[in-house]
Amino acid sequence: RAKLRGRNCSHHFSPDMAEALYRKMILRHHLTLALETEAFELYYQPIIDLKTRKLKGFEALIRWYDEELGQVSPAEFIPLAEETGQIVPLGKWIFKTAFLQLAAWQKKYDKAFMMSVNLSRAQLQASLAPTIEAMILHYNINPAKLALELTESTMLQEYDDAKQCLEDLAALGIELYLDDFGTGYSSLSQLQDLPISTVKLDQSFVQGNHKGSRAIIEATKAICEKLDLKVVAEGVETIEQLKYLQMCNFDYCQGYYLAKPMPAHQLEASGFALLNEVPELPHHSLFHS
Ligand code: C2E
Ligand code: MG
Ligand code: MG
Ligand code: MG
Repeated sequence: RAKLRGRNCSHHFSPDMAEALYRKMILRHHLTLALETEAFELYYQPIIDLKTRKLKGFEALIRWYDEELGQVSPAEFIPLAEETGQIVPLGKWIFKTAFLQLAAWQKKYDKAFMMSVNLSRAQLQASLAPTIEAMILHYNINPAKLALELTESTMLQEYDDAKQCLEDLAALGIELYLDDFGTGYSSLSQLQDLPISTVKLDQSFVQGNHKGSRAIIEATKAICEKLDLKVVAEGVETIEQLKYLQMCNFDYCQGYYLAKPMPAHQLEASGFALLNEVPELPHHSLFHS
């Protein structure tokens, strides 16, 4: 690696770039092997309904442990799998695993449980809806208990094709969530133009990392209410954050304060218990709904 660094040191190709490229090459190679051996696992993070203060369902989040590289974050390998097209077969494995888990938990615990699965822009192809339709029939899943999460920033390219694909999915009865709201090119027109049922406000606002975070939280809730969209808060880490979101009449929330993403067996062993109780709804709320 030292050699590579020395040789390529120039204004156009810095050591940092060489390092990054080398890491990418290695990851790409390992990712191919991981796909063949199904070396992935899904973790599930509880989603809480703030009105009932109960568990609504789960978001499936992929994990990859590589013998040599250790735990690799999805934030690093998902973009890579998108570049190579590997996201399509990987996505199918994710659907299959998440659908099977949902069917099992519904049968064993609660028919009302739902499952939310993240979707990459590269998966939005004409074949996606037929593929998912076949799977929900095969695994006998109620489509109304499925949600697919899409990140807004990636929607803009080939918008019409993507929109068609989302409409096909919505026609199956699946819900579509707009993930990481507020961080991409938040085109507000997309909220109305696409068949989205629910907005997930990005955790950076929930955690107050921005000037005016509270204004953005309140404005997001107001827009969603007017457009008849549900709203989820991501990344809730403290009781103060949770109480504020309740006061703003958010519909759902997720975060380490209530539950971290966990392997299925661990979640089941915990009896789906939350780390902390959800307080009762406050008397004063900023909105009337
Ligand atoms: P995302 O869909 O926005 O997921 C939320 C991320 O925030 C997850 O990171 C989750 O573990 C983390 N998180 C949840 N609660 C908290 C909290 O209270 N505090 C903090 N600091 N973080 C919290 P993760 O699992 O590393 O996933 C990162 C991103 O990778 C996801 O963001 C999603 O865009 C992508 N991703 C994960 N799994 C999949 C998948 O199966 N398919 C696709 N296409 N993308 C995935
Ligand atoms: Mg998500
Ligand atoms: Mg998110
Ligand atoms: Mg994200």
